[in-house]
Formats: sequence, C-alpha cells, structure tokens
Amino acid sequence: MINFNIPPFVGKEFDYMREAIENRKICGDGAFSKRCGEWMEQRFNAKKVLLTTSGSTALDMAAILCGLKPGDEVILPSFTFSSTANSFVLAGANLVFVDIRPDTMNIDETKIEAAITEKTRVICPVHYAGVACEMDTIMSIAKKYNLLVVEDAAQAVMSTYKGKACGTIGDFGCYSFHETKNYSMGEGGAIVINNGIFIEKAEILREKGTNRAQFFRGQVAKYNWVDFGDSYLQSDLNAAYLWAQLEIADKINNNRLATWNTYYKAFKVLKDKGMIELPVIPEGCVHNAHMFYIKCKDLETRQAYIKFMKENDILCVFHYVPLHSAPAGKKFGRFFGKDEHTTYDSDRLVRLPMYYNINKDDLQKVINKTMEFFKK
Ligand SMILES: *Cc1c(COP(=O)(O)O)cnc(C)c1O
Repeated sequence: MINFNIPPFVGKEFDYMREAIENRKICGDGAFSKRCGEWMEQRFNAKKVLLTTSGSTALDMAAILCGLKPGDEVILPSFTFSSTANSFVLAGANLVFVDIRPDTMNIDETKIEAAITEKTRVICPVHYAGVACEMDTIMSIAKKYNLLVVEDAAQAVMSTYKGKACGTIGDFGCYSFHETKNYSMGEGGAIVINNGIFIEKAEILREKGTNRAQFFRGQVAKYNWVDFGDSYLQSDLNAAYLWAQLEIADKINNNRLATWNTYYKAFKVLKDKGMIELPVIPEGCVHNAHMFYIKCKDLETRQAYIKFMKENDILCVFHYVPLHSAPAGKKFGRFFGKDEHTTYDSDRLVRLPMYYNINKDDLQKVINKTMEFFKK
C-alpha cells in the first residue's frame, strides 16, 4: 500500500528526546522549544515565534489576541480546514466566507473588499498547499479599512511571498506541525507575532494569564495573574522531535520539491491535452511542496480516479468539503456573493501521495497508474 502521508522521521529524534528527558525539563519552553522558536525567528525573519500545542491553538491565540467582540466579522475562505473557522467562532465572531481563485485555491483577493462591512475586523487568508495568497493586495485592503490580518500558514512553513516568509506578513501567522505537515512533532504548532504590540499579551495569554515570561527575563520581581489566559505551551519532548527536522529543513524541503516537480513534469502531457488541471504557482511565490494535487474534469471522474488508485493500493484523497455547506458553517457564517469556484473546484480536486523521502519506485507507480487511468 502506498500511503498518502508518512510523517517525517529523520534519525536524530531519539537522541534529542533523550536529551530533553535527561535535562529534567520536559514541560513547555525548555531548551528545544527555545531552539525551535529562535530558529524560526532567524530563518523567517520573524519578530516573535512561540511554539503552541497545535496549529489550531495557534489560530485560537491569534483570534483571541485580535480582541473580537460578539457580532464582529472575519473574512476567510470557505475552502479550508475547520480549525481556521473554529478559532474565530471561539472569539465570538461571525464568519464571512469569500470565494477562492481556481488557480491556487486561495481566497480571491479581488472579492474581499466588497465583503467588508462596518463590522469586519479581521481577514484570514489561508496559504493553501503552501502557495501564498496575494498578500500585497490583502495587506493594502487591511490597511485601508484598519483590519487585522491572521495568516493561516499551517501548510506554508518555508514558503515565501515576494521574498518574505509566509506567516510573517500579517499581524499574526499560524504554523502547524501536525504529522500531516512538512515538519512535524505529532501534534503541535507555532504562532508568529509580527505586530510588536501583541507580544507581551501573547506571552501572558499562552502562560495561563500570568506574566511568567517577563519574570524569567527579570523584568518583574514576581509573577502574577494579570489577564485572561490559557495553556498553549508545547512540551519540550515534542519540540525535541521537531528540532531534528528543523536542523535539516532545507534537505526536507528540497526532497519534497523534487517529488513535486517529478509529478508536475509527468502530468504536464495530461494537462496539455486538457484532461486535468495542475497547481499554479504565481510569480513571486516560492512554495514548499506541501501538497501535490490535480483537478479532474468533474466530481465523477475524481471519484473514479480515487477508486482506481485504491484498487491499485495507492491512497489518494480529496480535500475540504467547503465550510459554508457544512452544518457548523451555516450556523456560524454566511457566504458572501456568488460561489463560482469554491464548490466547483473543490469537488474536482484530489491529492496524491506526498511525503519526505517517498520511495522512487512508489512515486513511479503513482505516476504510471495515473497515466493508465487517464488513457482509458
Ligand atoms: C493542519 C491545518 C490546521 C490545523 O493544524 P493542527 O496542527 O492540526 O491543529 C489549520 N489550518 C489549516 C489550513 C491546516 O492545514
């Protein structure tokens, strides 16, 4: 069976996890958590990066820090994971779903401005498949209407937009280190805080509402409960697992990109014949090969393709059922304008096996079987 995903294991994990245990410090913000955070701050040129227990809780933190009030509105795509939406529901906001562009499956930046009302507070672009949204346009709309921007960069660790790391462009960026993502610690994530005014608040929110972080830096004499908070710190054991991968982040990235390019080259003939569509990487975007997807001509073809691949022991999977059509989506939000691409394009999309160090023979088999299916 060729799996859709196999989480990365690069070899040093046991050593680092042992070290964390021997340090007798396996709770949050230990040596490995600090190393991971500082590595990301340097590599991505980010003001502050704090590890969290998941990409979902990084989004929760961002949504809480936005200071939303009941009835405030948040603009986001409907073609995304439930976590993107849940965080803003937690913060009390109403969701306004905006259509996606068919080339990248990202929020259509040209449709955002019309969806803004006097209640709009936040825009949450999702960098689908690790390909950046059109951030210049989104940031200038946010500036014009005085909105905050939370980047859901769960899939976009190591991706860039016009030279800037995804996650470092909006007020907040949220990364995921779930085992299905490019870099993994089982469950985990990080919040990137780019707007300096939120750093202290974020530290307090993340540490049960206390100013413990300032205390450890010697900025205050004792620590106290100063505001609402929760616990979003990641265990240092998980951080030790992640550190092994961050150390070789480029190697992992290049390996995935090579797989992605192999797929792309092989399937270009199908695209040229108009049988399938392939992902588009707009100019100025450097992606991280988080995902390789194709779009079939319709839902029926996609289902037949998934079935055919499964019969050949290859797991290919579709993606999100658009949130606005889900029970919770109807309860917490509304779709703005016409759904031109969200439903139509998500119905046709299928993701192919993609993970670090995929075996060459397996990769070739996926390609061969795909060619065989579309020749029929
Ligand atoms: C994976 C993912 C999340 C959630 O991350 P977890 O670490 O699984 O909580 C949020 N948004 C998007 C777009 C994702 O792909």
